[in-house]
Amino acid sequence: MYTVAQLIGGVWGAGGEGGELVVRDPADDSPVATVPVATADEVGKAVEAARGAAADWAATDPAERAAALHRAADAVEAAADELAAATTAEMGKPLDDARGGVAAGIGTLRQYAELGPLRGGRTLHGGHGALDFMTPEPRGVVAAITPWNDPVAVSCGLLGAALVTGNVVLYKPSERTPVTGWLLARALDSALPAGVLSLLTGGAEVGAALAGQEVDVVAHVGSTATGRAIAAAGARTGAKVLLENGGSDPLVIDSGVDPVWAADQAALGCFANAGQICVAVERIYVHRDVAEDFVDALVQRAEALTVGPGREPGTQLGPLVDRRHRDHVHGQVTAAVAEGARIRTGGELPDGPGAFYPATVVADCRHEMALVREETFGPVAPVVVVDSFSEGLRCAADSPYGLAATVLTGSMSHAHRAWRDLPVGTVKVNAVFGGAPGGAAQPRRGSGQGFGYGPELLDEFSTVKTVHIEAPGGGHW
Ligand code: NAD
Repeated sequence: MYTVAQLIGGVWGAGGEGGELVVRDPADDSPVATVPVATADEVGKAVEAARGAAADWAATDPAERAAALHRAADAVEAAADELAAATTAEMGKPLDDARGGVAAGIGTLRQYAELGPLRGGRTLHGGHGALDFMTPEPRGVVAAITPWNDPVAVSCGLLGAALVTGNVVLYKPSERTPVTGWLLARALDSALPAGVLSLLTGGAEVGAALAGQEVDVVAHVGSTATGRAIAAAGARTGAKVLLENGGSDPLVIDSGVDPVWAADQAALGCFANAGQICVAVERIYVHRDVAEDFVDALVQRAEALTVGPGREPGTQLGPLVDRRHRDHVHGQVTAAVAEGARIRTGGELPDGPGAFYPATVVADCRHEMALVREETFGPVAPVVVVDSFSEGLRCAADSPYGLAATVLTGSMSHAHRAWRDLPVGTVKVNAVFGGAPGGAAQPRRGSGQGFGYGPELLDEFSTVKTVHIEAPGGGHW
Protein backbone atom coordinates (compact mmCIF):
# COMPACT_ATOMS: atom_id res chain seq x y z
CA MET A 1 0.00 0.00 0.00
CA TYR A 2 1.49 3.33 -1.11
CA THR A 3 0.94 6.71 0.52
CA VAL A 4 1.26 9.36 -2.14
CA ALA A 5 2.48 12.89 -1.30
CA GLN A 6 2.25 16.15 -3.20
CA LEU A 7 5.19 18.42 -4.05
CA ILE A 8 4.38 22.13 -3.76
CA GLY A 9 6.94 24.93 -3.72
CA GLY A 10 9.75 22.40 -3.38
CA VAL A 11 8.19 20.80 -0.27
CA TRP A 12 7.16 17.15 -0.30
CA GLY A 13 4.01 16.36 1.69
CA ALA A 14 2.52 19.84 1.33
CA GLY A 15 -1.26 20.39 1.14
CA GLY A 16 -3.88 17.72 0.61
CA GLU A 17 -6.64 19.50 2.52
CA GLY A 18 -9.12 18.49 -0.18
CA GLY A 19 -9.41 14.99 1.31
CA GLU A 20 -8.09 11.66 0.18
CA LEU A 21 -8.81 9.21 -2.59
CA VAL A 22 -8.10 5.49 -2.64
CA VAL A 23 -6.81 3.73 -5.77
CA ARG A 24 -7.80 0.09 -6.20
CA ASP A 25 -6.15 -2.66 -8.23
CA PRO A 26 -8.46 -3.35 -11.20
CA ALA A 27 -7.46 -7.04 -11.13
CA ASP A 28 -8.89 -7.76 -7.66
CA ASP A 29 -10.23 -4.49 -6.16
CA SER A 30 -7.58 -4.50 -3.41
CA PRO A 31 -6.46 -1.04 -2.23
CA VAL A 32 -3.20 0.14 -3.79
CA ALA A 33 -2.75 3.64 -2.41
CA THR A 34 -4.15 6.60 -0.55
CA VAL A 35 -3.73 9.86 -2.35
CA PRO A 36 -4.13 13.46 -1.16
CA VAL A 37 -6.50 15.71 -3.05
CA ALA A 38 -5.37 19.30 -3.63
CA THR A 39 -7.74 22.16 -2.87
CA ALA A 40 -8.17 25.03 -5.33
CA ASP A 41 -6.27 27.21 -2.87
CA GLU A 42 -3.33 24.77 -2.84
CA VAL A 43 -3.33 24.75 -6.63
CA GLY A 44 -3.14 28.56 -6.63
CA LYS A 45 -0.29 28.55 -4.12
CA ALA A 46 1.59 25.91 -6.13
CA VAL A 47 1.33 28.04 -9.27
CA GLU A 48 2.53 31.09 -7.36
CA ALA A 49 5.52 29.17 -5.96
CA ALA A 50 6.34 27.76 -9.40
CA ARG A 51 6.21 31.27 -10.88
CA GLY A 52 8.75 32.29 -8.23
CA ALA A 53 11.18 29.57 -9.38
CA ALA A 54 10.68 30.20 -13.11
CA ALA A 55 13.20 33.01 -13.74
CA ASP A 56 16.19 31.15 -12.25
CA TRP A 57 15.44 27.94 -14.16
CA ALA A 58 14.92 29.88 -17.39
CA ALA A 59 18.32 31.55 -16.89
CA THR A 60 20.14 28.24 -16.37
CA ASP A 61 22.44 27.33 -19.26
CA PRO A 62 20.70 24.94 -21.68
CA ALA A 63 23.61 22.47 -21.30
CA GLU A 64 23.11 22.50 -17.54
CA ARG A 65 19.39 21.82 -17.92
CA ALA A 66 20.23 18.97 -20.29
CA ALA A 67 22.66 17.48 -17.78
CA ALA A 68 19.95 17.68 -15.10
CA LEU A 69 17.54 15.88 -17.40
CA HIS A 70 20.10 13.12 -18.01
CA ARG A 71 20.48 12.73 -14.23
CA ALA A 72 16.68 12.64 -13.96
CA ALA A 73 16.60 9.87 -16.57
CA ASP A 74 19.17 7.94 -14.49
CA ALA A 75 16.91 8.29 -11.44
CA VAL A 76 13.88 7.09 -13.40
CA GLU A 77 15.96 4.14 -14.64
CA ALA A 78 16.88 3.27 -11.05
CA ALA A 79 13.16 3.30 -10.16
CA ALA A 80 12.06 1.45 -13.31
CA ASP A 81 10.94 -1.79 -11.64
CA GLU A 82 8.97 0.06 -9.00
CA LEU A 83 7.36 2.31 -11.61
CA ALA A 84 6.30 -0.65 -13.76
CA ALA A 85 4.89 -2.55 -10.78
CA ALA A 86 2.93 0.52 -9.65
CA THR A 87 1.51 1.06 -13.15
CA THR A 88 0.33 -2.54 -13.33
CA ALA A 89 -1.16 -2.38 -9.83
CA GLU A 90 -3.02 0.85 -10.59
CA MET A 91 -4.31 0.34 -14.11
CA GLY A 92 -3.91 -3.36 -14.81
CA LYS A 93 -1.71 -3.63 -17.90
CA PRO A 94 0.60 -6.66 -18.26
CA LEU A 95 3.87 -6.05 -16.42
CA ASP A 96 6.00 -6.39 -19.58
CA ASP A 97 3.94 -3.66 -21.25
CA ALA A 98 4.37 -1.47 -18.20
CA ARG A 99 8.12 -2.06 -18.33
CA GLY A 100 8.07 -1.11 -22.01
CA GLY A 101 6.28 2.13 -21.18
CA VAL A 102 8.88 3.01 -18.54
CA ALA A 103 11.73 2.24 -20.95
CA ALA A 104 10.08 4.41 -23.60
CA GLY A 105 9.78 7.24 -21.09
CA ILE A 106 13.47 7.02 -20.14
CA GLY A 107 14.42 7.01 -23.82
CA THR A 108 12.33 10.14 -24.39
CA LEU A 109 13.94 11.96 -21.45
CA ARG A 110 17.38 11.19 -22.87
CA GLN A 111 16.39 12.29 -26.38
CA TYR A 112 15.14 15.62 -25.06
CA ALA A 113 18.28 16.01 -22.95
CA GLU A 114 20.32 15.65 -26.15
CA LEU A 115 18.09 17.75 -28.41
CA GLY A 116 17.32 20.59 -25.99
CA PRO A 117 20.63 22.46 -26.18
CA LEU A 118 20.95 21.89 -29.94
CA ARG A 119 17.93 23.95 -30.86
CA GLY A 120 18.93 27.52 -31.56
CA GLY A 121 17.29 30.48 -33.20
CA ARG A 122 17.99 32.30 -36.47
CA THR A 123 20.21 35.18 -37.45
CA LEU A 124 18.64 37.69 -39.84
CA HIS A 125 20.14 39.78 -42.62
CA GLY A 126 19.35 43.33 -41.54
CA GLY A 127 21.25 46.58 -42.04
CA HIS A 128 25.07 46.34 -42.19
CA GLY A 129 25.56 48.10 -38.85
CA ALA A 130 22.75 46.25 -37.09
CA LEU A 131 22.45 42.88 -35.43
CA ASP A 132 19.15 41.06 -35.97
CA PHE A 133 18.31 37.65 -34.61
CA MET A 134 15.49 35.45 -33.38
CA THR A 135 15.98 33.49 -30.19
CA PRO A 136 13.86 30.87 -28.45
CA GLU A 137 12.86 31.46 -24.83
CA PRO A 138 11.02 29.34 -22.29
CA ARG A 139 7.30 30.06 -22.04
CA GLY A 140 7.41 30.10 -18.23
CA VAL A 141 4.98 28.03 -16.18
CA VAL A 142 3.64 24.82 -17.73
CA ALA A 143 0.75 22.73 -16.39
CA ALA A 144 1.07 19.10 -17.56
CA ILE A 145 -2.18 17.14 -17.10
CA THR A 146 -1.86 13.48 -18.04
CA PRO A 147 -3.88 10.24 -18.45
CA TRP A 148 -3.50 6.74 -17.03
CA ASN A 149 -3.20 4.45 -20.04
CA ASP A 150 0.59 4.71 -20.54
CA PRO A 151 1.44 7.00 -17.66
CA VAL A 152 5.26 7.02 -17.66
CA ALA A 153 5.78 7.24 -21.43
CA VAL A 154 3.24 10.02 -21.87
CA SER A 155 4.36 12.04 -18.83
CA CYS A 156 8.08 11.81 -19.67
CA GLY A 157 7.41 13.34 -23.08
CA LEU A 158 5.65 16.42 -21.73
CA LEU A 159 7.83 16.84 -18.64
CA GLY A 160 11.14 16.24 -20.41
CA ALA A 161 10.42 18.66 -23.25
CA ALA A 162 9.00 21.37 -20.95
CA LEU A 163 11.87 21.18 -18.45
CA VAL A 164 14.77 21.08 -20.90
CA THR A 165 13.43 24.16 -22.70
CA GLY A 166 13.59 26.04 -19.39
CA ASN A 167 10.02 25.94 -18.12
CA VAL A 168 8.93 25.12 -14.60
CA VAL A 169 6.25 22.42 -14.50
CA LEU A 170 3.17 21.67 -12.42
CA TYR A 171 2.44 18.01 -13.01
CA LYS A 172 -1.07 16.61 -12.43
CA PRO A 173 -1.11 12.86 -13.14
CA SER A 174 -4.34 10.94 -13.58
CA GLU A 175 -6.30 10.12 -10.43
CA ARG A 176 -6.25 6.52 -11.72
CA THR A 177 -2.41 6.32 -11.70
CA PRO A 178 -1.24 8.77 -9.02
CA VAL A 179 1.33 6.37 -7.53
CA THR A 180 3.09 6.11 -10.87
CA GLY A 181 2.98 9.91 -11.14
CA TRP A 182 4.34 10.33 -7.62
CA LEU A 183 7.21 7.86 -8.15
CA LEU A 184 8.08 9.56 -11.42
CA ALA A 185 7.98 13.04 -9.86
CA ARG A 186 10.20 11.82 -6.99
CA ALA A 187 12.79 10.52 -9.42
CA LEU A 188 12.76 13.67 -11.58
CA ASP A 189 12.76 16.04 -8.62
CA SER A 190 15.87 14.35 -7.20
CA ALA A 191 17.84 15.76 -10.15
CA LEU A 192 16.27 19.23 -10.36
CA PRO A 193 16.58 22.43 -8.31
CA ALA A 194 13.83 22.73 -5.69
CA GLY A 195 10.64 24.31 -7.00
CA VAL A 196 11.22 23.55 -10.70
CA LEU A 197 8.81 20.60 -10.59
CA SER A 198 5.58 20.46 -8.57
CA LEU A 199 3.19 17.55 -8.16
CA LEU A 200 -0.54 18.06 -7.57
CA THR A 201 -2.80 15.07 -7.07
CA GLY A 202 -6.55 14.52 -7.20
CA GLY A 203 -9.24 14.20 -9.84
CA ALA A 204 -10.90 16.26 -12.53
CA GLU A 205 -11.57 19.14 -10.14
CA VAL A 206 -7.83 19.52 -9.45
CA GLY A 207 -7.07 19.44 -13.19
CA ALA A 208 -9.80 22.05 -13.79
CA ALA A 209 -8.46 24.28 -11.00
CA LEU A 210 -4.97 24.05 -12.51
CA ALA A 211 -6.17 24.72 -16.07
CA GLY A 212 -8.02 27.80 -14.79
CA GLN A 213 -4.86 29.36 -13.34
CA GLU A 214 -2.73 32.07 -14.96
CA VAL A 215 -0.15 29.64 -16.31
CA ASP A 216 1.64 30.05 -19.66
CA VAL A 217 0.91 26.62 -21.17
CA VAL A 218 -1.57 23.88 -20.36
CA ALA A 219 -0.48 20.61 -21.97
CA HIS A 220 -3.18 17.96 -21.73
CA VAL A 221 -3.14 14.37 -22.88
CA GLY A 222 -6.52 12.77 -22.28
CA SER A 223 -10.10 12.66 -23.46
CA THR A 224 -11.61 14.98 -26.04
CA ALA A 225 -14.26 16.28 -23.61
CA THR A 226 -11.58 17.30 -21.11
CA GLY A 227 -9.46 18.82 -23.87
CA ARG A 228 -12.38 21.02 -24.90
CA ALA A 229 -12.94 22.17 -21.30
CA ILE A 230 -9.22 23.03 -21.06
CA ALA A 231 -9.32 24.91 -24.38
CA ALA A 232 -12.22 26.99 -23.01
CA ALA A 233 -10.22 27.72 -19.83
CA GLY A 234 -7.21 28.70 -21.94
CA ALA A 235 -9.36 31.12 -23.93
CA ARG A 236 -10.18 32.86 -20.64
CA THR A 237 -6.66 32.94 -19.14
CA GLY A 238 -4.64 33.41 -22.34
CA ALA A 239 -2.58 30.26 -21.72
CA LYS A 240 -1.34 28.36 -24.74
CA VAL A 241 -3.19 25.04 -24.90
CA LEU A 242 -1.60 21.88 -26.26
CA LEU A 243 -4.00 18.95 -26.66
CA GLU A 244 -3.38 15.28 -27.45
CA ASN A 245 -6.83 13.78 -27.12
CA GLY A 246 -9.07 10.87 -28.04
CA GLY A 247 -9.40 9.05 -31.31
CA SER A 248 -11.43 6.46 -33.15
CA ASP A 249 -8.75 5.08 -35.42
CA PRO A 250 -9.94 3.10 -38.44
CA LEU A 251 -8.39 0.00 -40.00
CA VAL A 252 -9.26 -0.37 -43.69
CA ILE A 253 -8.68 -3.83 -45.17
CA ASP A 254 -8.48 -4.04 -48.98
CA SER A 255 -9.57 -6.94 -51.16
CA GLY A 256 -6.81 -9.39 -51.95
CA VAL A 257 -5.20 -9.03 -48.53
CA ASP A 258 -4.35 -12.26 -46.65
CA PRO A 259 -7.24 -12.42 -44.13
CA VAL A 260 -5.19 -14.31 -41.53
CA TRP A 261 -2.41 -11.71 -41.56
CA ALA A 262 -5.08 -8.97 -41.47
CA ALA A 263 -6.57 -10.65 -38.38
CA ASP A 264 -3.13 -10.66 -36.70
CA GLN A 265 -2.87 -6.93 -37.34
CA ALA A 266 -6.42 -6.24 -36.15
CA ALA A 267 -5.96 -8.32 -32.99
CA LEU A 268 -2.80 -6.39 -32.13
CA GLY A 269 -4.47 -3.05 -32.84
CA CYS A 270 -7.69 -3.80 -30.96
CA PHE A 271 -6.55 -5.87 -27.98
CA ALA A 272 -3.07 -4.61 -26.96
CA ASN A 273 -3.28 -2.87 -23.55
CA ALA A 274 -6.93 -4.06 -23.57
CA GLY A 275 -7.62 -1.49 -26.30
CA GLN A 276 -6.63 1.36 -24.00
CA ILE A 277 -4.19 3.03 -26.41
CA CYS A 278 -4.88 6.38 -28.04
CA VAL A 279 -3.98 4.90 -31.43
CA ALA A 280 -5.72 1.55 -30.86
CA VAL A 281 -7.80 0.25 -33.77
CA GLU A 282 -11.33 1.31 -32.87
CA ARG A 283 -13.24 0.36 -36.07
CA ILE A 284 -12.58 -2.00 -38.96
CA TYR A 285 -13.78 -1.60 -42.56
CA VAL A 286 -13.10 -4.87 -44.35
CA HIS A 287 -13.67 -5.61 -48.03
CA ARG A 288 -16.50 -8.10 -48.58
CA ASP A 289 -14.19 -10.46 -50.51
CA VAL A 290 -12.09 -11.25 -47.42
CA ALA A 291 -14.57 -10.38 -44.64
CA GLU A 292 -15.73 -13.84 -43.66
CA ASP A 293 -12.28 -15.41 -43.40
CA PHE A 294 -10.96 -12.30 -41.66
CA VAL A 295 -13.64 -12.32 -38.97
CA ASP A 296 -13.21 -16.08 -38.36
CA ALA A 297 -9.45 -15.61 -37.88
CA LEU A 298 -9.96 -12.56 -35.63
CA VAL A 299 -12.34 -14.53 -33.41
CA GLN A 300 -9.66 -17.21 -33.06
CA ARG A 301 -7.06 -14.59 -32.07
CA ALA A 302 -9.44 -13.06 -29.51
CA GLU A 303 -10.23 -16.42 -27.93
CA ALA A 304 -6.56 -17.44 -27.77
CA LEU A 305 -5.48 -14.52 -25.57
CA THR A 306 -4.35 -15.35 -22.02
CA VAL A 307 -6.48 -13.28 -19.66
CA GLY A 308 -5.39 -12.50 -16.10
CA PRO A 309 -3.92 -9.97 -13.70
CA GLY A 310 -1.18 -7.94 -15.33
CA ARG A 311 1.36 -8.98 -12.70
CA GLU A 312 1.10 -12.67 -13.69
CA PRO A 313 3.70 -13.75 -16.25
CA GLY A 314 2.12 -14.73 -19.54
CA THR A 315 -0.90 -12.46 -19.22
CA GLN A 316 -1.77 -10.91 -22.57
CA LEU A 317 -5.08 -9.27 -21.67
CA GLY A 318 -5.31 -7.60 -18.27
CA PRO A 319 -8.38 -5.91 -16.80
CA LEU A 320 -9.71 -2.54 -17.88
CA VAL A 321 -8.67 0.39 -15.70
CA ASP A 322 -11.80 0.25 -13.52
CA ARG A 323 -15.47 -0.68 -13.49
CA ARG A 324 -16.62 2.81 -14.44
CA HIS A 325 -14.66 2.44 -17.67
CA ARG A 326 -15.87 -1.14 -18.13
CA ASP A 327 -19.47 0.12 -17.95
CA HIS A 328 -18.70 2.60 -20.71
CA VAL A 329 -17.18 -0.12 -22.94
CA HIS A 330 -19.96 -2.62 -22.30
CA GLY A 331 -22.62 0.08 -22.80
CA GLN A 332 -21.35 0.76 -26.33
CA VAL A 333 -21.26 -2.97 -27.14
CA THR A 334 -24.80 -3.63 -25.89
CA ALA A 335 -26.13 -0.54 -27.71
CA ALA A 336 -24.63 -1.85 -30.98
CA VAL A 337 -26.23 -5.26 -30.41
CA ALA A 338 -29.59 -3.56 -29.78
CA GLU A 339 -29.14 -1.87 -33.19
CA GLY A 340 -28.52 -5.15 -35.01
CA ALA A 341 -24.83 -5.94 -34.56
CA ARG A 342 -23.85 -9.53 -33.73
CA ILE A 343 -21.34 -10.62 -31.11
CA ARG A 344 -19.00 -13.27 -32.51
CA THR A 345 -17.02 -13.66 -29.29
CA GLY A 346 -16.83 -11.87 -25.92
CA GLY A 347 -19.31 -9.12 -25.11
CA GLU A 348 -20.29 -10.47 -21.70
CA LEU A 349 -19.40 -9.17 -18.26
CA PRO A 350 -17.42 -11.87 -16.46
CA ASP A 351 -18.21 -12.89 -12.88
CA GLY A 352 -15.64 -12.23 -10.17
CA PRO A 353 -13.71 -9.27 -8.87
CA GLY A 354 -11.94 -6.61 -10.87
CA ALA A 355 -12.71 -4.89 -14.14
CA PHE A 356 -12.01 -7.68 -16.63
CA TYR A 357 -13.64 -7.51 -20.05
CA PRO A 358 -13.16 -10.17 -22.71
CA ALA A 359 -11.65 -9.58 -26.14
CA THR A 360 -14.78 -8.94 -28.17
CA VAL A 361 -15.48 -9.19 -31.89
CA VAL A 362 -18.70 -7.53 -33.07
CA ALA A 363 -19.81 -8.32 -36.63
CA ASP A 364 -22.56 -6.75 -38.78
CA CYS A 365 -21.76 -3.26 -37.48
CA ARG A 366 -22.81 -0.15 -39.37
CA HIS A 367 -20.74 2.99 -39.74
CA GLU A 368 -23.37 5.09 -37.91
CA MET A 369 -23.25 3.09 -34.65
CA ALA A 370 -21.75 4.79 -31.58
CA LEU A 371 -19.51 1.72 -31.10
CA VAL A 372 -17.96 2.58 -34.48
CA ARG A 373 -18.01 6.39 -34.43
CA GLU A 374 -17.09 7.09 -30.80
CA GLU A 375 -13.98 6.16 -28.86
CA THR A 376 -14.53 2.87 -26.99
CA PHE A 377 -11.05 2.43 -25.44
CA GLY A 378 -11.62 -1.25 -24.74
CA PRO A 379 -10.71 -4.66 -26.23
CA VAL A 380 -13.45 -4.49 -28.84
CA ALA A 381 -13.24 -5.01 -32.62
CA PRO A 382 -16.33 -3.66 -34.42
CA VAL A 383 -16.38 -4.89 -38.01
CA VAL A 384 -18.14 -3.09 -40.88
CA VAL A 385 -18.16 -4.84 -44.28
CA VAL A 386 -17.60 -2.56 -47.29
CA ASP A 387 -17.85 -3.16 -51.04
CA SER A 388 -14.77 -1.25 -52.15
CA PHE A 389 -11.55 0.27 -50.87
CA SER A 390 -13.02 3.69 -51.75
CA GLU A 391 -16.01 3.06 -49.49
CA GLY A 392 -13.64 2.00 -46.67
CA LEU A 393 -11.58 5.18 -47.09
CA ARG A 394 -14.72 7.36 -47.18
CA CYS A 395 -15.99 5.84 -43.91
CA ALA A 396 -12.53 6.07 -42.33
CA ALA A 397 -12.36 9.79 -43.16
CA ASP A 398 -15.86 10.50 -41.85
CA SER A 399 -15.11 10.93 -38.14
CA PRO A 400 -15.21 13.59 -35.43
CA TYR A 401 -11.61 12.59 -34.64
CA GLY A 402 -8.34 12.79 -36.59
CA LEU A 403 -5.61 10.99 -34.70
CA ALA A 404 -4.32 8.09 -36.85
CA ALA A 405 -5.42 5.45 -39.36
CA THR A 406 -4.14 2.20 -40.85
CA VAL A 407 -4.77 0.57 -44.22
CA LEU A 408 -3.82 -2.96 -45.23
CA THR A 409 -3.40 -3.22 -48.97
CA GLY A 410 -1.21 -4.80 -51.62
CA SER A 411 -1.86 -1.93 -54.01
CA MET A 412 0.66 0.91 -54.12
CA SER A 413 -1.91 3.26 -55.65
CA HIS A 414 -4.36 2.49 -52.83
CA ALA A 415 -1.58 3.08 -50.29
CA HIS A 416 -0.86 6.50 -51.80
CA ARG A 417 -4.56 7.41 -51.98
CA ALA A 418 -4.90 6.49 -48.32
CA TRP A 419 -2.15 8.74 -47.00
CA ARG A 420 -3.29 11.61 -49.18
CA ASP A 421 -7.04 11.32 -48.48
CA LEU A 422 -7.21 10.51 -44.76
CA PRO A 423 -7.61 13.65 -42.60
CA VAL A 424 -5.55 12.37 -39.65
CA GLY A 425 -2.17 13.08 -38.08
CA THR A 426 -0.59 9.67 -38.75
CA VAL A 427 -1.23 7.15 -41.54
CA LYS A 428 0.20 3.63 -41.34
CA VAL A 429 0.24 1.25 -44.29
CA ASN A 430 0.41 -2.50 -43.62
CA ALA A 431 1.30 -2.19 -39.90
CA VAL A 432 -1.07 -1.06 -37.14
CA PHE A 433 1.77 0.22 -34.95
CA GLY A 434 5.27 1.42 -35.73
CA GLY A 435 7.11 4.38 -37.17
CA ALA A 436 10.59 5.89 -37.25
CA PRO A 437 12.13 7.56 -34.18
CA GLY A 438 11.58 11.30 -34.07
CA GLY A 439 8.32 11.22 -36.00
CA ALA A 440 5.76 13.70 -34.69
CA ALA A 441 2.26 14.44 -35.89
CA GLN A 442 -0.41 17.04 -35.30
CA PRO A 443 -3.75 15.52 -34.39
CA ARG A 444 -6.82 17.00 -36.04
CA ARG A 445 -10.37 17.95 -35.01
CA GLY A 446 -11.50 16.26 -31.78
CA SER A 447 -8.12 14.57 -31.38
CA GLY A 448 -6.38 17.77 -30.35
CA GLN A 449 -4.01 20.47 -31.49
CA GLY A 450 -0.25 21.00 -31.58
CA PHE A 451 2.66 18.57 -31.55
CA GLY A 452 2.52 16.32 -28.50
CA TYR A 453 5.87 14.60 -28.97
CA GLY A 454 8.98 14.53 -31.16
CA PRO A 455 11.52 17.35 -31.53
CA GLU A 456 8.65 19.69 -32.45
CA LEU A 457 7.35 19.49 -28.86
CA LEU A 458 10.43 21.49 -27.84
CA ASP A 459 9.20 24.31 -30.08
CA GLU A 460 5.70 24.08 -28.59
CA PHE A 461 7.15 24.74 -25.14
CA SER A 462 9.29 27.64 -26.39
CA THR A 463 8.41 31.08 -27.57
CA VAL A 464 10.50 33.20 -29.94
CA LYS A 465 11.79 36.73 -29.46
CA THR A 466 13.09 38.84 -32.35
CA VAL A 467 15.87 41.29 -31.51
CA HIS A 468 17.18 44.28 -33.48
CA ILE A 469 20.32 46.05 -32.19
CA GLU A 470 21.90 49.22 -33.60
CA ALA A 471 24.84 51.28 -32.34
CA PRO A 472 23.83 54.47 -30.49
CA GLY A 473 23.08 57.50 -32.65
CA GLY A 474 23.35 55.39 -35.76
CA GLY A 475 27.20 55.45 -35.42
CA HIS A 476 29.63 52.97 -33.85
CA TRP A 477 29.87 51.26 -30.44
P1 NAD B 1 -9.17 12.43 -19.05
O1 NAD B 1 -9.15 13.62 -19.96
O2 NAD B 1 -10.43 12.08 -18.37
O3 NAD B 1 -8.09 12.62 -17.89
C1 NAD B 1 -6.77 13.03 -18.21
C2 NAD B 1 -6.33 14.04 -17.17
O4 NAD B 1 -7.18 15.19 -17.24
C3 NAD B 1 -6.43 13.51 -15.75
O5 NAD B 1 -5.31 13.93 -15.02
C4 NAD B 1 -7.72 14.16 -15.23
O6 NAD B 1 -7.76 14.33 -13.83
C5 NAD B 1 -7.68 15.50 -15.93
N1 NAD B 1 -8.99 16.15 -16.06
C6 NAD B 1 -10.20 15.58 -16.13
N2 NAD B 1 -11.16 16.53 -16.29
C7 NAD B 1 -10.53 17.72 -16.31
C8 NAD B 1 -10.95 19.08 -16.50
N3 NAD B 1 -12.23 19.40 -16.64
N4 NAD B 1 -10.01 20.06 -16.54
C9 NAD B 1 -8.69 19.75 -16.41
N5 NAD B 1 -8.23 18.49 -16.21
C10 NAD B 1 -9.13 17.49 -16.18
O7 NAD B 1 -8.61 11.22 -19.91
P2 NAD B 1 -8.29 9.74 -19.39
O8 NAD B 1 -9.55 9.00 -19.25
O9 NAD B 1 -7.36 9.81 -18.25
O10 NAD B 1 -7.45 9.15 -20.60
C11 NAD B 1 -7.99 8.46 -21.68
C12 NAD B 1 -8.07 9.35 -22.88
O11 NAD B 1 -6.77 9.86 -23.19
C13 NAD B 1 -8.54 8.65 -24.13
O12 NAD B 1 -9.48 9.47 -24.77
C14 NAD B 1 -7.27 8.51 -24.97
O13 NAD B 1 -7.50 8.44 -26.35
C15 NAD B 1 -6.55 9.77 -24.60
N6 NAD B 1 -5.12 9.67 -24.89
C16 NAD B 1 -4.64 10.37 -25.95
C17 NAD B 1 -3.28 10.28 -26.29
C18 NAD B 1 -2.74 11.03 -27.49
O14 NAD B 1 -1.52 11.13 -27.62
N7 NAD B 1 -3.58 11.55 -28.36
C19 NAD B 1 -2.43 9.49 -25.52
C20 NAD B 1 -2.95 8.78 -24.43
C21 NAD B 1 -4.32 8.90 -24.12
